[in-house]
Amino acid sequence: MQFKEVQVPEGDLIQSENGKLTIGDRPIIGVLRGDGIGTDITPVMQKVVNTAVEKAFGGRRAIAWCPLYAGLEGLRRYGSEFPDETVEAIRYLRIAIKGPFTTPIGEETHVCLHCAHQQDKPGKCEKCGKDDGVCERFRSINVRFRQHLELFACVRPIRYFAGVPAPNKYADKVNFVIFRENTEDVYAGYDFENGSDTARAIIDLIKQREGREIRSDSGIGVKPISVFGTKRIVRKALQWAVAQNLPSVTLVHKGNIMKFTEGSFCKWGYELAQEEFGDRTITEKALWDDFDGKMPGGKILMKDRIADSIFQQIQTRPDEYSVLALPNLNGDYLSDAAIALVGGLGLGPGANMSDDVALFEATHGTAPKYTGMDKVNPGSLILSAVMMLNHMGWYEAADLILRGMERSIQDAHVTYDLARLMVRDGRSDVSEVSCSGFGEAIIQRM
Ligand code: NAD
Repeated sequence: MQFKEVQVPEGDLIQSENGKLTIGDRPIIGVLRGDGIGTDITPVMQKVVNTAVEKAFGGRRAIAWCPLYAGLEGLRRYGSEFPDETVEAIRYLRIAIKGPFTTPIGEETHVCLHCAHQQDKPGKCEKCGKDDGVCERFRSINVRFRQHLELFACVRPIRYFAGVPAPNKYADKVNFVIFRENTEDVYAGYDFENGSDTARAIIDLIKQREGREIRSDSGIGVKPISVFGTKRIVRKALQWAVAQNLPSVTLVHKGNIMKFTEGSFCKWGYELAQEEFGDRTITEKALWDDFDGKMPGGKILMKDRIADSIFQQIQTRPDEYSVLALPNLNGDYLSDAAIALVGGLGLGPGANMSDDVALFEATHGTAPKYTGMDKVNPGSLILSAVMMLNHMGWYEAADLILRGMERSIQDAHVTYDLARLMVRDGRSDVSEVSCSGFGEAIIQRM
């Protein structure tokens, strides 16, 4: 394949057939540095990964990194923060990992990709003074990657690292993976302003067809949840549970109130489990009816929970959950609540996946005030790389990194964000290290 800016290095192109990957010994993997602190954390992540792969496989395997460009780098190389070529290259390479990207959030017409400042004119940034990073406001780069590559599953592993100050008494029992549907539900974007033609037409239609009144000054949102979208995300969650040998998959929904969207998500999820994983799964009812509550070997327990109760249960009985599948909005809330249980966003990894493409990512933002200071915690991106190595089947390298990180945190060799929490909690042996210093601490302890 011919690209304009992308230089594909020598190596093995990853192949995929029916969702099954073929990875050579020198797989070509896309890397997007990201804006802001992406410049600090991405090279650290690459160094940690390269070292772990070298140590695990004695030089027999190595990653051929292929730099790809979006955000500020996209603007510089292509004149666009979201170049088509980058999307095409990710599709071609099938696996990529990315730092955070600036997203305009206010009403202003322009945003600076250096410092995320927003203003109403082009040209020089009124805050940082740079004149090569201001561009017209745009829709979220992260969301566009998901939409353009149809990355329907947002995957968020949540686990505790011993030594991290965490607010929850049972934090050490947290170890589950959240599968959040990415393309449907309220995030599909069918949101109509009050008084608009579409909002009025929907209000009229509901009155005409259902005989029910909606106040005429209401804004209207539409929440589509389909059989296709539901089965696709539940299949992905079950495939993960099978591959990682996990004991349960829980369907989380608000079906007691929204029977035909949230309730159907649960119903179709169970259907999928029966249709495609019938020999591997049992329901809670069957567990008690047929096995007296004792889990038979080799099976995955299918459960369902109402969304509000799961927010309690991840705090009171977190060890009862290993994979959770949710529609979009509840998945969004639960992912952030769950990562808070174990000490906050700094160490939360993530990925967005389709059946053919996986894009691993840091889950925090660009933290512009720390850009270039070699200060922030690279943990989220490094743990996303651990997910990536597991996805590739390079488990030995993933385990080395995890072990290195566990030990660095136990030894309190951590970046400022964790250091200040540890000191607050009364630890006297804390060594605050830089972003690259944290990478070195992990490497030393692999
Ligand atoms: P942020 O995540 O950048 O920062 C929130 C707080 O967390 C700040 O105090 C920051 O200093 C701290 N922080 C963030 N990452 C850290 C790390 N790795 N180590 C230590 N501390 C860290 O969120 P924000 O300030 O709301 O957003 C800044 C920019 O990032 C905005 O343009 C926003 O839209 C964008 N953003 C991008 C993503 C993404 O690309 N996935 C996610 C969230 C925000």
